[in-house]
Amino acid sequence: MSRVLVLNCGSSSLKYRLFDVPAGHGWNAAGGVVARGAADSDPARDDEAPAAAEVEPVVVASGVVERIGESEPGAPQNHAEALAAAMAEISLDGLTAVGHRVVHGGLTFTAPALVDDAVLAAIADLVPLAPLHNPANLAGIQVARSLLPGVPQVAVFDTAFHRTLSPAASTYAIDAETAERYGIHRYGFHGTSHAIVSRRTAALLGRPVEEVNTITLHLGNGASACAVEGGRSVGTSMGLSPLEGLVMGTRSGDLDPAIIFHLHRVAGMPLSEIDELLNRRSGLVGLAGVNDMRVLLAKRATGDRAAALAFEVYCRRIRSYVGAYYADLGRLDAITFTAGVGENAPAVRAAALAGLDRLGIVVDPARNEAPERGARVISPPDAPVAVCVVPTDEEWEIATQTLGVVAA
Ligand code: AMP
Repeated sequence: MSRVLVLNCGSSSLKYRLFDVPAGHGWNAAGGVVARGAADSDPARDDEAPAAAEVEPVVVASGVVERIGESEPGAPQNHAEALAAAMAEISLDGLTAVGHRVVHGGLTFTAPALVDDAVLAAIADLVPLAPLHNPANLAGIQVARSLLPGVPQVAVFDTAFHRTLSPAASTYAIDAETAERYGIHRYGFHGTSHAIVSRRTAALLGRPVEEVNTITLHLGNGASACAVEGGRSVGTSMGLSPLEGLVMGTRSGDLDPAIIFHLHRVAGMPLSEIDELLNRRSGLVGLAGVNDMRVLLAKRATGDRAAALAFEVYCRRIRSYVGAYYADLGRLDAITFTAGVGENAPAVRAAALAGLDRLGIVVDPARNEAPERGARVISPPDAPVAVCVVPTDEEWEIATQTLGVVAA
C-alpha cells in the first residue's frame, strides 16, 4: 500500500487529496481517497478554481476548513499555514510521496519530475509564462518540502501531455525569431485530465489506447479540447496560456487578436484591463452575466435571450473544434465529454454535436439524458463514432503519475 498526498496550490488556495493506493493499482482503478480538503480565500482569483458555490464541502474524512486570508483568528494566512493545518488533521504516517499539480512546464518538462533544486529553478524560470499559477505551485512545493523533509516530492505538469504535438500543431505563425526568443508556442493545458480521460475512454470501449483516436472535451470552468491519437496529444485548444480555444466560464477563448489593439487604441484600455476583461469578464459571464452553466441553463429556460445566445456561442465553438480535430485525426473513434459541464449537462452535449450525423457523430437522447454518473457511451449502439461521458480525476492521475516517478 502506498499513501500519496496530492497538492493543488492556487494563488489564494490550497486543495489537497490523500490517497491510499493498493499495490498494483493503476490509473484505471477508482481513487482510494482517504481525505480531502481545501482552503481558499477567493475562488474566483484562481482562474482554474471552481466557482464559490461548488468549492467542495471540504471535509470528507477530515481536512482544512478555514480559508486562507480570512481574518478569523486561527485561519491560515498562507500556504504554509494551510498545509500545516491540514497535516494536523490528517495522518501522513507512512507517506510515500507528495504529488504537486504544476500548471506550466513549458518545453522543459515532457513528463512528471522528481523535485530537486534544479527542477525548482526550472519551474521558477517558467513564471513569466504562468505568472499567476507557477509561483503558487512553487510555494506549495517549498512548503511541503520543508514540512515533510525526506518525503519525495513530484511535480506533475498540466502541459506535459501535450509535448507530443507536432511542430505544425504547436507553432504560431508569427516571426519565428520573436517566437523563439519569447517562448511563443502552443503549450496546452488540462493535460492530466485529457490523459486519464482518453485512456479511460479506450478502456470503456474495450480497446487498447494505442488503437483509439479520441477528441476529449474538458468542459469545466476552464475548458479545452484535445485531439488524442493512439494515446498521444496531437492537437489542443489552449495555447501559450489557458485563454485560447473554447468559450469558458469567464474567459473568451479564441478571438481576433486585433480586438486587443482596438480596445487599446480606440477604447483607451490599458493592457492590464484587457487582460482582466478577457480572462475574468468574458466567456459565459461576459455574454450572460453568469459563469455557472447550471444557472445559465436555468436562465435560458426562462427565455433569457442573452443566456440563449451564450449557450449557442459556447456549443458552436465546441462543434467547430470537433470538426477541426476530426479533420486532423483523419479517423475518429470517440468523442468524450468530461469535467463539470461535460459530465453533467446533457443539453450542452446534445447541442454541441447536433447536425454531425453525416460525420457518424450521433447522440442518443435517452442515453444522453439518463441520470448516470459513471463512464458511459451516449451514442446509439454501433454508431461509427462512440460519444462518451467519462468523469475526469486529475488528482488520481497526479497520484498515479507521482507513484510512477517514485517507483522508477
Ligand atoms: P469544473 O471546473 O470541472 O469543476 O466545472 C465547474 C463547472 O461545471 C461549473 O462552473 C458549472 O458551470 C458546471 N456544472 C457543474 N455541475 C453542473 C450541472 N449539474 N449542470 C451543468 N453544469 C454543471
